[in-house]
Amino acid sequence: MTRARILIVGGGFAGVECARRLERALSPGEARIALVAPFSYQLYLPLLPQVASGVLTPQSVAVSLRRGLHHTRVIPGGSIGIDTKAKVCVVRKITDEIVDEPYDHLVLAPGSVTRTFDIPGLTEHARGMKTLAEAAYLRDHVIAQLDLADAATDPAERASRLRFIVVGGGYAGTETAACLQLITTAAARRYPRLDTRLIKWHLIDVAPKLMPELGDRLGTDALRVLRQRGIEVSLGVSVAKVEPELVTLTDGRALPCRTLVWTAGVTASPLVATLGAETVRGRLAVTSRLTVPGADGVFALGDAAAVPDLAKGDGAICPPTAQHAQRQGRTAAANVVAALRGTPARPYIHKDLGLVVDLGGKDAVSRPLGLQLTGLPAQAVARGYHLMALRTNVAKVRTLTNWILNATAGDDYVRTGFQLRRPATLRDFEYTDTYLTPDQIQARTHAFRPR
Ligand SMILES: Cc1cc2nc3c(=O)[nH]c(=O)nc-3n(C[C@H](O)[C@H](O)[C@H](O)COP(=O)(O)OP(=O)(O)OC[C@H]3O[C@@H](n4cnc5c(N)ncnc54)[C@H](O)[C@@H]3O)c2cc1C
Repeated sequence: MTRARILIVGGGFAGVECARRLERALSPGEARIALVAPFSYQLYLPLLPQVASGVLTPQSVAVSLRRGLHHTRVIPGGSIGIDTKAKVCVVRKITDEIVDEPYDHLVLAPGSVTRTFDIPGLTEHARGMKTLAEAAYLRDHVIAQLDLADAATDPAERASRLRFIVVGGGYAGTETAACLQLITTAAARRYPRLDTRLIKWHLIDVAPKLMPELGDRLGTDALRVLRQRGIEVSLGVSVAKVEPELVTLTDGRALPCRTLVWTAGVTASPLVATLGAETVRGRLAVTSRLTVPGADGVFALGDAAAVPDLAKGDGAICPPTAQHAQRQGRTAAANVVAALRGTPARPYIHKDLGLVVDLGGKDAVSRPLGLQLTGLPAQAVARGYHLMALRTNVAKVRTLTNWILNATAGDDYVRTGFQLRRPATLRDFEYTDTYLTPDQIQARTHAFRPR
């Protein structure tokens, strides 16, 4: 009997959960499981703003793939094209070598990339908050601005270095602005010469509300906390132009500023487009059983797929959250096993458990199971939730220890300096321009196609 080849693309919330469940459900004699993953860790994205603000070390949110997966062949690289007729996934390894991986069952979970718009200067000058490298670079950059402002003799230079703009009033942008603002305003202890009143944080969003998914009351509570801390929140406003030392907003304001953090939403991984399959607002159209219509043996899930939200009904699509991605990983694993054993597949259905938003220090807002919480109770729920959700005990202990250390000893404002001369903009980090065209894919895979 030949063993079925199961290939998972993407080692994030959805892909890793699927691999774990498959390892548990299948004996090594039944199937060979492989995972294509550019990194050797699963990034716990909800805590990324705390890496940018230095509350957590990068290792705390990089959960080891090797600790959790025991029988899966991890292929270090990224998929750059898929031929669903030939049943082949083309992979570029981290050495740039390109290899073909034939599969019987394919689980597509490459997640999403930062969504950008055609705004002059945006990709060249804005910084993202979607990868571990971006968070680490942002932290270094912000501390560099404090160091340079402290040493500056020109007041105009000092002012532009001490103004920080975050675009995007969803949970990623709100948490990033809130957590980073806390560390910069707490800098007085380490920068006694610096007038911290000059530090200005702005959070802007084109929408009329912050985090509308939290509901009116909690969105308003979050807004109040941010404004009390001195963060200027501008709603109904976006960015018109970005220059190295100036950001122009759509309301006409031109703000001298050298730090623009762009967190205005995500779009499905460009890998999706290489399938030539139907999409819904860029995400791969899938059935409620996570199968891709017209592509035999292919499942898609997480941020890359438009999974029907059966718990909401009315044709709703699951929002791109870790909560859904991880649970879809379980359903995908169950349905791959069902396909192997010829048993019925099950639909994905999950009622949203709510959201937790950590605003740093003692501030948070959260809506667990519909309960509206603010302040310390919300913070306890938020941190408890993250500790539970982190996959390995080592990651939990590392995170908890970092929280305790930061709460008691504060920040050291250490800048690593590795990236001082390297650009670190939206253009530099994401897996966006490495994909093959349909013709290039077929030129490689035609030998595998059924005749
Ligand atoms: C700053 C931030 C904060 C967030 N906070 C929350 C929160 O509090 N709660 C919540 O529920 N959600 C939150 N989210 C959203 C959540 O992280 C995503 O919805 C979730 O990660 C989606 O899971 P996924 O498995 O689809 O993708 P990911 O977890 O992003 O995993 C995709 C993986 O695929 C890899 N990959 C990409 N391209 C390829 C390729 N071509 N080949 C192979 N591998 C590839 C990526 O490197 C990545 O490892 C946050 C997101 C961000 C950016």
